[in-house]
Amino acid sequence: MAAKFVYFFGGGKAEGNATMKNLLGGKGANLAEMANLGVPVPPGFTITTEVCTHYYANHRKYPSGLKEKVAEAIKKVEKIMGKKFGDSADPLLMSVRSGARSSMPGMMETVLNVGLTSKTIPGLIKKTGNERFVYDAYRRLIMMYSDVVMEKAAGVEPKDDEGIRRQLDRIMENVKREKGLKLDTELSATDLKNLCEVFKSRVKEVLGKDFPDDPNEQLWGGIHAVFASWNGKRAVSYRRIEGIPDEWGTAVNVQAMVFGNMGEKSATGVAFTRNPGNGENRFYGEYLVNAQGEDVVAGIRTPAPVNEDSKSEHNRELVSLEKAMPKIYKELFAIQRKLEKHYHDMQDIEFTIENGRLWMLQCRVGKRNGPAAVKMAMDMLKEKLITSKDAVKRVTPAQLDELLHPIIDPAAEKNSKPLAKGLPAGPGGAVGQIVFSAQAAVEWAKAGKKVILCREETNPEDVEGMRAAQGVLTARGGMTSHAALVARGWGKCCIVGCGAIDVHYSAKEMHVDGKVLREGDWLTLNGTKGLVYEGQLPTLDAAEENKLLSGFLKVCDSLRKLGVRTNADTPEDATKARQLGAEGIGLFRTEHMFYGKGSDEPLFLLRKMIVSKNADERKKAIDGLYTYVKRDIKGTLAAMDNLPVVIRLLDPPLHEFVPRDREKLQALASDLNISMDELAKRSEALHESNPMMGHRGVRLGVTYPEVSTMQIMAIFEAAAELIKEGKKPYPEIMIPVVCDVKELRNQLNLARDIYKQVLAKTGVKKIRHKLGTMIEIPRAALVANEIAEEAEFFSFGTNDLTQMSFGFSRDDIGGFLPDYLSKGILPGDPFQSIDQKGVGELIGIGIERGRKTRKDLEVGICGEHGGEPESVAFCHRVGMDYVSCSPFRVPIARLAAAQVVVAEMAASKKKK
Ligand code: ADP
Ligand code: MG
Ligand code: MG
Repeated sequence: MAAKFVYFFGGGKAEGNATMKNLLGGKGANLAEMANLGVPVPPGFTITTEVCTHYYANHRKYPSGLKEKVAEAIKKVEKIMGKKFGDSADPLLMSVRSGARSSMPGMMETVLNVGLTSKTIPGLIKKTGNERFVYDAYRRLIMMYSDVVMEKAAGVEPKDDEGIRRQLDRIMENVKREKGLKLDTELSATDLKNLCEVFKSRVKEVLGKDFPDDPNEQLWGGIHAVFASWNGKRAVSYRRIEGIPDEWGTAVNVQAMVFGNMGEKSATGVAFTRNPGNGENRFYGEYLVNAQGEDVVAGIRTPAPVNEDSKSEHNRELVSLEKAMPKIYKELFAIQRKLEKHYHDMQDIEFTIENGRLWMLQCRVGKRNGPAAVKMAMDMLKEKLITSKDAVKRVTPAQLDELLHPIIDPAAEKNSKPLAKGLPAGPGGAVGQIVFSAQAAVEWAKAGKKVILCREETNPEDVEGMRAAQGVLTARGGMTSHAALVARGWGKCCIVGCGAIDVHYSAKEMHVDGKVLREGDWLTLNGTKGLVYEGQLPTLDAAEENKLLSGFLKVCDSLRKLGVRTNADTPEDATKARQLGAEGIGLFRTEHMFYGKGSDEPLFLLRKMIVSKNADERKKAIDGLYTYVKRDIKGTLAAMDNLPVVIRLLDPPLHEFVPRDREKLQALASDLNISMDELAKRSEALHESNPMMGHRGVRLGVTYPEVSTMQIMAIFEAAAELIKEGKKPYPEIMIPVVCDVKELRNQLNLARDIYKQVLAKTGVKKIRHKLGTMIEIPRAALVANEIAEEAEFFSFGTNDLTQMSFGFSRDDIGGFLPDYLSKGILPGDPFQSIDQKGVGELIGIGIERGRKTRKDLEVGICGEHGGEPESVAFCHRVGMDYVSCSPFRVPIARLAAAQVVVAEMAASKKKK
């Protein structure tokens, strides 16, 4: 049987439903679902994504039989509507709408009012008695069609700002200016009629073709344009950013028009079943009287609020739908409740009111920012609208990240006067230099600059620039404008509708309150409040005590199996991480105390130790160091009381610590009582041609056992002291860079001896501890069965393991990795997300062989991958006990670890 190309909906039923998104696209599937639910939807039909795929696979030809199926479907629509497409007395008009599987806001094309021609116009005027409406609809058709079908789909690439749409916009602006009018709605029937004629001749002039005057030519032109738009520049670049495969294709929805532009009793709007900006459970939306759908999103007029809850500083004066059309509002309110209940999630809906009658035109799961996502998940869980498994799926790691993102320092903000105020469309703070075009944003960002993209309003051509910017600021548009929609999806700091700014693109400046700001000037945005500041305000890390967040993460904890630890080297970091939910430390690096604040004295002693010639000299330096090492370890063990702390013995190649400046060298020489020449000789001797594979890690301990002894002694004595203070320290001593069981045995025997000595010396009976190793050399993974004879735990050091598996020096990948990525040789940076095929295989082998020897072997990861969601999922699947990551990624790891469990449950249910 030939595949079904066309699915009908309308008149209270539909051939498709919401589960058919792959075939019908999101819009088509949900239109069908709404029709089935008995929600008023204008009748229409969906041409499947398979037709799109066929179209591209067959030199842009439609499958045979499609024309007939479309004609049949139109007949059905005509029957329900009681009008005929192309009829001179009572013409039916159609919209042609794109609709991919996942929503691509503004990326694809839509044409409204298809079917208006010299033959149908007089009939429609007669039928509606509204000439103004008809010519308003016609001028819109010409604007959209010439842009979408005759220009974009035809591959015409006009110069910036010279596209046909912009040209027609300017013509209309001029007419309004000449007549002293402000709003489109003030244009008269005659104005519009004349405008249509001017439009048509401009179209002919610019694009070299007559505007089509045949309804079927318009219809198929529209269908063709939607399919073509799938490979349009904007759609392709959006797909790259979002990782949407090219093969998915788009569906086309053809639907009977309903008119929001028929006069004062008509309107159109966009709404959300809950507030997408903060998650509050209140119906939220905007609408425009006497307008068609495009107008709300385009930010041409400031839309009015649908109800009290949707009022803001910008639209407070305008009459809400609730007040203007109470009956319709009630109906709309009931429908949105019904839809949310049916879909179990917040819906983003489009509606149109034609002469006092309500129609729904779209519903889909609404985009939301991070704080809203967490709030909705928790509220819906409480309302029993969803289960805890659903709740965990409702927040993406990136959204969670938003809650942990920097904000403008409130103290500094209090002391600064905002330059302007707009609508808070994307949360958090952003500081950057002003740019006025998306292209500049991309270029400046590439050059390592932080930018704020400032636009009159954004459109789909700007997405890459928006992506590259720290924040986005627009002069026009509401909370449902393009800029707001895209920013919300990405959780980007964004302020829209900031009417006080006046952008002059050609001069590259903007005027605010008598001030002139130029490209490159600094600007600070508070996207949570909608405030704009001149200059650079300091930012703060967020993640303050947030009840909602901790509640959500507890739900995650109830599902996850993987432990989450942190990489921390100081008591402060350990405390912070513990607040964020860390269940221990997966990596404490001893060498930390030789960097940064307060490191002068210990570093001096370390250097002394390094350049010592004999055991005696070295012993002195080491004794001095001991105090510092013990102090730091004790503080950290105390901060993580009762939780495990993996302490790695000194790892880096020693020469890294040899001073380079003369003053420091001199101090060292005089302290050791040697000449500068002698010192130079000694440090030269430490030089290695390949230090990353040189004398480091366990190899240091083997050659200088006294260095290991000092550290191990410090660990056990710190623990013993804590026990005496009534605490429960739990150190795990980790030997790095091990490749063979014998070198590990050499060091762990030392540790066992010291343990006994410390017990004897301190009188403490027992110190809970583990002895283990880092697995970061491929050979170690392969001989893990032997290594596990000694090690009680493994921690995969995936930074080095990746480095040594690929043979890529992590510090030198900049020279070739970008090419590897752009040429598709590697799917991604293996230092960010674990290379599951290769490095992952080694990890799997290491765990399996290790556990064969020691069943209760504890296994974790401490590389930077430990906080990357896909790597976390991998660690779960490969059977690790925990992941460890930097303190700020701990919440993300908790979420990712829960999500992988939920995904596994769903998969196993499917199998059954
Ligand atoms: P997008 O995916 O960019 O939102 P849509 O296909 O939803 O594009 O259409 C753009 C606008 O046109 C929306 O506001 C929508 O509500 C409106 N629209 C689409 N079809 C119709 C129709 N049949 N009648 C009235 N308005 C419509
Ligand atoms: Mg839409
Ligand atoms: Mg390492």
